[in-house]
Amino acid sequence: MSAAHMGRAAALILATLLASSCVSVSVTVASKEARRYNFRFVRHARDAPAVSYYNYIVVGGGTAGCPLAATLSEHSRVLLLERGGLPYGNRNVSSEYHFADALADTSPLSPAQRFVSEDGVVNARARVLGGGSCLNAGFYTRASAGYVRAAGWDARLVNASYRWVERALVFRPGVPRWQRALHAGLLEAGVTPDNGYTLEHLPGTKIGGTIFDRRGRRHTAADFLRRAHPRRLTVFLHATVSRVLFRPGGKKKPVAYGVVFTDSVGGEHHVYLRGGGGAARTR
Ligand SMILES: Cc1cc2nc3c(=O)[nH]c(=O)nc-3n(C[C@H](O)[C@H](O)[C@H](O)COP(=O)(O)OP(=O)(O)OC[C@H]3O[C@@H](n4cnc5c(N)ncnc54)[C@H](O)[C@@H]3O)c2cc1C
Repeated sequence: MSAAHMGRAAALILATLLASSCVSVSVTVASKEARRYNFRFVRHARDAPAVSYYNYIVVGGGTAGCPLAATLSEHSRVLLLERGGLPYGNRNVSSEYHFADALADTSPLSPAQRFVSEDGVVNARARVLGGGSCLNAGFYTRASAGYVRAAGWDARLVNASYRWVERALVFRPGVPRWQRALHAGLLEAGVTPDNGYTLEHLPGTKIGGTIFDRRGRRHTAADFLRRAHPRRLTVFLHATVSRVLFRPGGKKKPVAYGVVFTDSVGGEHHVYLRGGGGAARTR
């Protein structure tokens, strides 16, 4: 997908819907861990200037936002704003065996933010760099070819992107006893054919990929930031976007030209788009 496809006017990328009710109260300092993982471009929002300018602004450093920011940074100056902190050093995120603990942690510093849906279901959403990939069950599969066609995407680019993701993040899972039993049960119940281990979306039963490696270590979308251009990407953590700024687009839709975000001590920062993004390409 090229920047031209995205359109100059759409240079402001909203990687996620704004969770405006979520106020970041974290006081952790990111820089120490960021240095450890060589993320020199990751900083605390308190250190952000009052006003700055970028070619692209990505709101939400989640499953989509991290790879998007990393690839855009190949050719453009990119700002990634994430309301949570780093996922590293938190075993509730990094270890498969603490999967449920992350979801159960309701402290203000938790990477999971508990919420109740409008129909009363207790649920959790991510509040951490890497987003849902830091909390989820780690199952990975490609979409079906029909889905990609219906979405109007370029199948060649989609497949190249899948391979890029899979090389970094996807593992073949072990199949312990109860999963083996479930697998056999599905086949016995007629959910066939048996596709074995595959990342493709196929009718029948299959063993998909996982973002947990053989040692039970979770690999998250935040890891994609290692692929970013370190001088073209800036990431602010504990940066809660409160407003997207629009100007009228004449007869067309309004055009976003910046955002306002708040740091963990209530400081307000304004960021504006410049240049329209240039010729960025995702893999
Ligand atoms: C318990 C659970 C298990 C799951 N299991 C699987 C699975 O096995 N396989 C699978 O494919 N999917 C699974 N999912 C779903 C998957 O994790 C999500 O679909 C995916 O992470 C969504 O990606 P996203 O980039 O749209 O949003 P997210 O990854 O949620 O990223 C959004 C980011 O935006 C940030 N943000 C929000 N508001 C603001 C703001 N105002 N300012 C700044 N930042 C902001 C958030 O902190 C977050 O980091 C699971 C989800 C859950 C909750």
